[in-house]
Amino acid sequence: MQFKTRISVATTLLNSFLASALALLALNAQADAYPSKPINLVVPFAAGGPTDSVARLIAVPMGKSLGQSVVVENVLGAGGTIAATKVARAAPDGYTIFIHHMGMATAPALYDKLPYDPMKDFEYIGQVADVPMVLLGRKNFPPNNFKELEAYIKANKDKVTMANAGPGAVSQLCGLIFQSRLGVRVTTIPYKGTGPALTDLLGGQVDILCDQTTQTIPYIKDNRVKVYGVTTPKRLSALPNVPTIDEQGLKGFDVKVWHGVYAPKGTPKPILDKITVALKKALTDPDVKKRLDDSNIDIVPMSKVTAESLKTHLDAEINRWGPIIRKANIPD
Ligand code: ASP
Repeated sequence: MQFKTRISVATTLLNSFLASALALLALNAQADAYPSKPINLVVPFAAGGPTDSVARLIAVPMGKSLGQSVVVENVLGAGGTIAATKVARAAPDGYTIFIHHMGMATAPALYDKLPYDPMKDFEYIGQVADVPMVLLGRKNFPPNNFKELEAYIKANKDKVTMANAGPGAVSQLCGLIFQSRLGVRVTTIPYKGTGPALTDLLGGQVDILCDQTTQTIPYIKDNRVKVYGVTTPKRLSALPNVPTIDEQGLKGFDVKVWHGVYAPKGTPKPILDKITVALKKALTDPDVKKRLDDSNIDIVPMSKVTAESLKTHLDAEINRWGPIIRKANIPD
């Protein structure tokens, strides 16, 4: 090699070494200063609904421990996939984080082409909480129990309306499994979250809805809605007299809504670590725990509030739900 060529190779190497060292320093400085402004917590459904409630419950204590507010931003539409797309494309600087439920795992089977890949376009922070669902009817809907509901739907399938929060929402998943197990299709009314769907159920504008227990327990206890069953294999401590859907004939019916917190791919590890610490603190806050307990929401064990746990769980759930959804022959 010529002397001049050797010098130019050495200079190039030195320059690229300096560039990487500077980039590392800048990254460390950015992580040290983090957070220096409010953080956006993107929620993929309407304000006042179950996902929004879990988000708002953790946002305040997370903000306290991070020393900056965590501000909830509801990004609505397409069963949560518009929000997921927005987060996948956001700057990976720690100022955009995302809470989503198991729709993150069901969307790949529901959409021919998603604008993001749940296994590639995100950083994983941790699981949060598991929430059961209930199958509800409007107060003056004729069927009084699950058996009557089955018969009524089979006889009136062209009349019955079922609300959900769009393809990718758990209300849609629960509804489609229910319909496919009964072997009927009813008219589906999509909303931008089950907050507004529940308002319409209470107002008598739609007939039935599957929704988390987060907002629904008080309405069930006050007889403002009819309840036909819980979606988990076991009865709920908050509603001990409400039978499971499984025990009423749809054996194996099991939908429990898990949640995860994510960040855009490329968010620096030291920043993710700070967010994880804040999430763990929020989930062990006695006030948060009490409020989640009241809605029959189970906070996950702290061993699940990790990137590895969330990523492994998401992968398993994509593989679990894909075949079930394709067999149920949706989307709607
Ligand atoms: N419960 C909702 C769902 O069906 C969404 C929401 O939290 O509003 O996915």
